[in-house]
Amino acid sequence: MSIQTATLGYPRIGKNREVKKALEAFWSEKLDAESLWETLRQVEETNWQTQREAGIDRIGIGDATLYDSVLDWSIYLGLIPERFRHLSGLEQYFAMARGKEGIPALEMTKWFDTNYHYLVPEISAQLQPTDFNPVLATVKRAQQILGKRATPIILGPMTLLRLSRLDMPISEIIRPLCDRYVNLLQALKPLDIEEVQIHEPALVLGDTAKFKDDYESTYASLVQVGIPLDLVTYFDDLGESYPWVIQLPVASISLDFTRGRNLEQLKRHGFPSDKRLGVGIVDGRNIWQIRPDRLLPILDDIKPITSNLSIQPSASLQFVPYDATRETKLPEPLRNVLSFAEQKLQEVVILAQTLQGEDRRSQLQDIATGQTAFEQFSPPNTQVQQQLQSLNVDAFERSLPYAQRQPLQLQLPPFPTTTIGSFPQTSQVRKLRRQWKRGEITLADYKKAIDAEIAQCIRYQEEAGLDVLVHGEFERTDMVEFFGQQLQGFAFTQHGWVQSYGSRYVRPPIIYGDVVRQAPMTVREFKVAQSLTEKPIKGMLTGPVTMINWSYPRTDISRQEQAFQIALALRQEVADLEAAGATIIQIDEPALREGLPLKSERWQDYLSWAVDAFRLSAGIAKPQTQIHTHMCYSEFGDIIQHIQRLDADVLSIENSRSNNETLFEITNAGYAHQVGNGIYDIHSPVIPTTEHLLEQLRTGVANLPVEQIWVNPDCGLKTRHWDEVIPALKNMVEAAKMLREEIYASGK
Ligand code: GLN
Ligand code: ZN
Repeated sequence: MSIQTATLGYPRIGKNREVKKALEAFWSEKLDAESLWETLRQVEETNWQTQREAGIDRIGIGDATLYDSVLDWSIYLGLIPERFRHLSGLEQYFAMARGKEGIPALEMTKWFDTNYHYLVPEISAQLQPTDFNPVLATVKRAQQILGKRATPIILGPMTLLRLSRLDMPISEIIRPLCDRYVNLLQALKPLDIEEVQIHEPALVLGDTAKFKDDYESTYASLVQVGIPLDLVTYFDDLGESYPWVIQLPVASISLDFTRGRNLEQLKRHGFPSDKRLGVGIVDGRNIWQIRPDRLLPILDDIKPITSNLSIQPSASLQFVPYDATRETKLPEPLRNVLSFAEQKLQEVVILAQTLQGEDRRSQLQDIATGQTAFEQFSPPNTQVQQQLQSLNVDAFERSLPYAQRQPLQLQLPPFPTTTIGSFPQTSQVRKLRRQWKRGEITLADYKKAIDAEIAQCIRYQEEAGLDVLVHGEFERTDMVEFFGQQLQGFAFTQHGWVQSYGSRYVRPPIIYGDVVRQAPMTVREFKVAQSLTEKPIKGMLTGPVTMINWSYPRTDISRQEQAFQIALALRQEVADLEAAGATIIQIDEPALREGLPLKSERWQDYLSWAVDAFRLSAGIAKPQTQIHTHMCYSEFGDIIQHIQRLDADVLSIENSRSNNETLFEITNAGYAHQVGNGIYDIHSPVIPTTEHLLEQLRTGVANLPVEQIWVNPDCGLKTRHWDEVIPALKNMVEAAKMLREEIYASGK
């Protein structure tokens, strides 16, 4: 029996966010390029040392990046779109990442079902000349520190193509691209590398069978070079493609045993005796300590099938923070059951040693003890559980159908104008929050200052002439964190940063126990705002599905159950907002779409509970209350019936960046409720002109009955400046007024 250990990637932002700090300094010209690279190399080398000291046998290297590792592969492979070709070096790199005067950046999108965003490669027939010197330099550096353990990570050609924007069908470009990969492997060959990891997560997508021939011919060419290849897959199982994928001519295949049904497949179809199986069993996507009582039986199942194994995380550890032991502010029983990257390395080693017959019982016992202590620390909340069990269908249903409740709701002018919720988070607002958190100002002073911001925001909205106002969300740093902090069952880390994209890092909340609302969360700010204006103020909540999708969820109960618990808390909040006089309440679900499972056969199940969770939070609203929801940056075409089933009275969507495609998807499907088809891009500093906005609105009018149309920006305004927001909103209101006149004066 041969048991090894491996890693598939590591957090690359630096334990103290060194890369972000260096990037920002570089962008503001306070740091030179060489120092920026030096920071990255230091972070990378520290990571290597940590993994070596933990005793990992094959350490994945080469994933450290200044911005995005997929962008790095675009550069290494010479996939430079025409518009960047006159640039070079870091200027070119950051232009591709972030754009440059008049040159739009590469498109950015989510990496599979994670919250990491990558830059979409754009591939045209004409590949640019390139060499692989940067890759070779990294490998040589890694070998000095890691020796034979250094295992280069290569983004696989098929995954790259599946995620790219292509000028041609895959079958036409795969040959020339494959040649590039052969060149790369040939360049690596003299370095005497034991093995290369080729990451092909696209193999878990539901439609892989269509590309069987491409995979087979590609891998037949790549293995010719003679470096042993580990074909690495993750995020789900291989599905129906399992039998042929395991026969691809590589030395090793790595599978994810934390998601999907790879274990079933393995038992059914076996595994080739001439290959090593990479057992991705330590969850790289969540932060909970391993449960030996659950994992050892899986390993026991695998052992008789194949005995040449590597124990490893299920995916790159980039999706978890560095070190749970630093979270000294968390209660100890909780901290003890958390596992970030460093703890996961130890878990990999403990599991491998146990499998080899070494006595690691005392470590395993410690884990079990910690688990028991945690269960005592966070017992189930019987009240919430009973409430959930006693829910009947009515709880998910508004008391009247849309057609009947709509006439009872607030009547507004045609093309009502509103915003999505947040207003500029100025440095003053952020400073205020910092001062309060550090105890430099009292809570009373903090609230007074927030109220002053609200008052100013109301004034600006009235001046702009908006119909439905918001309070501005100045008290919220983040739409999930703000609610999580007020709910029992959520915990927040101090250092738990993970990369969202480029220099933007987030600290996802941890859901660790039953969720209970302790007190109203948004009512005070709502009342303050409403006391200042005759116009309706829209109550603003974050929906249950978004709360789950942007957190680390529990693994002891289903995501559905967690979402329903949050929905119950929001339900109380909806009732309290109504009692405080709210006639319009928005429940944001920007993350609904991105939670879709990778395989479409599992969509139905997810959408069924996700939509139910939303309905549970909104179902308590009186028919007179208008429920809004908001989603951004997603396509709806394939899930439109589910969007309809949310039964929101008004749906606001991002639309301006997708060329009205989202709107067309909605209208083609005959969406019958009201729609705010976001008419200007809040990510752009450009102030949209009235003419442009009117143009956008006319597209809406051409596609939807006028009674259904709302007028709003495509997302929250918190990243913009007031001097951009004020004129933009004035123009937006102006455009709505012009349209009202145009349409109602002409008697349409
Ligand atoms: N109400 C939130 C805001 O305006 C919505 C944010 C989002 O859609 N991501 O900031
Ligand atoms: Zn949005």
